[in-house]
Amino acid sequence: MAALDELERAFRGARRDPAFRKELQGYLRDYAGRPTPLTFARRLSQTIGRGVRIYLKREDLLHTGAHKINNALGQALLAVRMKKRRLIAETGAGQHGVATATVAALFGLECDVFMGEEDMERQALNVFRMRLLGATVRPVTAGTKTLKDACSEAIRDWVTNVRTTHYCIGSVVGPHPYPWMVRVFQSVIGQEARRQMLATVGRLPDYAVACVGGGSNAIGLFAPFARDQRVKLIGVEAGGRGSAPGANAATIVHGSPGVLHGMFSYLLQDRAGQILPTHSVAAGLDYPGVGPEHAYYRRLGRATYVAVSDREALQACELLAKTEGILPAIEPAHALAYVAKAARTWPRGSIILIGLSGRGDKDVGTMAKHLGHGRTPAHV
Ligand SMILES: *Cc1c(COP(=O)(O)O)cnc(C)c1O
Repeated sequence: MAALDELERAFRGARRDPAFRKELQGYLRDYAGRPTPLTFARRLSQTIGRGVRIYLKREDLLHTGAHKINNALGQALLAVRMKKRRLIAETGAGQHGVATATVAALFGLECDVFMGEEDMERQALNVFRMRLLGATVRPVTAGTKTLKDACSEAIRDWVTNVRTTHYCIGSVVGPHPYPWMVRVFQSVIGQEARRQMLATVGRLPDYAVACVGGGSNAIGLFAPFARDQRVKLIGVEAGGRGSAPGANAATIVHGSPGVLHGMFSYLLQDRAGQILPTHSVAAGLDYPGVGPEHAYYRRLGRATYVAVSDREALQACELLAKTEGILPAIEPAHALAYVAKAARTWPRGSIILIGLSGRGDKDVGTMAKHLGHGRTPAHV
C-alpha cells in the first residue's frame, strides 16, 4: 500500500504540473508520432453499404506499432520524476514489454521484463527485440507460465525493490491508481479523435468501437466521449473458439465479479474463484481480467460489450488489408469484425469510429498459418 500511495501522490502532482504535461506532449509528438491521423475508410464503408461512414483512429502508425507507447512514455516520465532508476513490466505477447524496453532505453533506465516461459517460446521475436533494446527478460515458471503469472511475479519484485523501481503496468488493470492513471495516459486517443471528428465530419460519431483486452485502448477512446450520451460505446472482446470455459478471453461477456491483481472486476474464473485458462488468437487480448472502469461502464449501461471469434477477427484483417491497404493487428480486427457484422442492422448513414490500436506486422505469421495462403515464411 505504501508503494501505491507514493505512486498516487506522484501522479496527482505530475498531472497538475504544466512542465510535466508539456514534456510528455513533446515526447508523444516528436518521438511517438502524435497526433495520429483519423482515416476515412471509404472502400470499407462501401463494402458494408447502407451509407455508413467508418473512420479509423490510427494508433497503428505510432512508434513501436501500437497505442501502448502512450502509456509507457507517461509512466517512464513519472518514474524519472520519482527518481526511480529501474523499470519493470509484465508482458504476455511482448508488445508492452517492447514498449517499456523502448522508453527505458530512451530515458537511460534499467529494465526487467517478466514473461511466462510459455509466452517466451511463442513470442521469441519480441524476446529478442527487448534484448536488443537493452532489457533483461526474466522467464516466469510459476502457474501456467503465461501473462497472469508474469503479473504476479512483477508485483513481487516491485514490493521488494520499490525504492529504486517503478512497476509499469501495461493496461487499465491492477490496483488503484493504475486503472485511472493508465486511462488518463491513453485518453489522448479519444481526445484527438473527438476533435478530429468535429473538424472533419462536423459532428460526433454514432458509434465508437474498440477491442478490449485489459481495456486500455478502448477506455482511452471511450472516456472523452463518456458524457456524450448519444455516442454509443462498444467494447469487443476475444470470443476465441467459443463460449466454453478456457476457449475464450471474453471477460465481461462470459465472466463474473472477483478479485485479481489488486482489482475487483469481471474475471474468467471457476465457481471456486480459481482463474481459468484463456485463449485468443490475438495474444494482446489473452488476459482473464478486464479493467474495473469497463466493469463500471457496463454496470451503468454506458457501454456494451460483445465477443467476436478468432476466425471472424482473422477474416477482418484480410478485409481491411484488401479494402484499405491497411494490415491491422488481430486485436483491433475484433472491432472491425464486429462492425462489419453489426452495421448491417444499424441506422442508415451511421458514422462509426473504430480504434485501430495496432498494426499487423507482428501477426503476419499467425495470419499465414490460419488464413491458409501457403506456408509460413521461414523468417516469421
Ligand atoms: C496489447 C494490445 C491490445 C490490448 O490491450 P488493451 O489494454 O485492451 O488495449 C490491443 N491492441 C493491440 C495492438 C495491443 O498491442
